[in-house]
Amino acid sequence: MKKINQALGLTRSKDFISRYEALKKETLSHPDIQMFLNSHSSSIDEELIEKSLMKFYDYTTQQKDCSNCPSLTDCKNTVKGYIPHMKLQGKAIELFYEPCETKTKVDQKRQRERLIQSLYIPRDILKATLFDIDIDSEQKERAIEAADQFIDDYLTGKKPKSLYLYGSFGVGKTYLLGAIANDLADKGVPTLLVYVPDFLREIRSGIGDNTLNEKLNFVKKAPILMLDDIGAETMSSWARDEVLGPILQHRMADELPTFFSSNFDFNQLYHHLTFSQKGEKEEVKAARIMERIKSLADPYFLDGENRR
Ligand code: ADP
Ligand code: MG
Repeated sequence: MKKINQALGLTRSKDFISRYEALKKETLSHPDIQMFLNSHSSSIDEELIEKSLMKFYDYTTQQKDCSNCPSLTDCKNTVKGYIPHMKLQGKAIELFYEPCETKTKVDQKRQRERLIQSLYIPRDILKATLFDIDIDSEQKERAIEAADQFIDDYLTGKKPKSLYLYGSFGVGKTYLLGAIANDLADKGVPTLLVYVPDFLREIRSGIGDNTLNEKLNFVKKAPILMLDDIGAETMSSWARDEVLGPILQHRMADELPTFFSSNFDFNQLYHHLTFSQKGEKEEVKAARIMERIKSLADPYFLDGENRR
């Protein structure tokens, strides 16, 4: 009864007995304890109750639901994030612990975050799912159906083509990519989302510090890659031929799913890739990149309002 003594703040004062009895009464009248005792009435006697008072008391002092709990770090339970359950084991009453709702959610979120890695894409775009995405146009519906089909096919071991989502600024291309990544994460499939303009900028700065190959390999080998906003960058010949080209080549050869989003359709992207910064026209090289993109993904036009 050490814990109860502590709770009473006494060792052997005069009114120990009466306060002990009061606490015992209060503990045993807790509705959960009552229910537990009632459902085991044939196997629990007075002696066992007396012997188990500390466990019962321990149980009643802990939170059983998270409705008033601001966060996992504020959890006051004996084991943070776990709620106690009572169990009759042989001739003893034991408490065992299960993760609470808050802890389960935090764990799921962590698991999800492990599965979706993003480079330079704000996390808030990744909250969408295909199930609750707002469908405000027929074109969007077509794209969502194709995305669903992709996920089904991918999970059954087929080699489906990815999606190239294009349309104007703010129609929800990145949002849809995020939804696909989330749905894949729910099925345990990891995705890497990359915001192309920032990625290329960083890759350029990686030339000097030999992290270039490491970064390139990371993107080349991601099980599922999403290249967001291709065409929004100022693509140098070097980025096109030494970065984008090899990434796409590798992914094509290994049949690794690669999604794209762009403000440009295929034709516009081809033109964007054709002109080098020096102003020369490099049609063959641009055409080679376009071939790879087309072999990896089918185009889906997204329309609708600018949602920004
Ligand atoms: P894009 O990549 O086509 O420029 P975004 O995906 O960034 O557009 O979407 C613009 C804004 O609209 C974002 O803030 C996004 O969260 C929101 N949004 C886009 N599509 C939807 C949708 N289907 N339902 C709810 N919000 C959306
Ligand atoms: Mg976008």
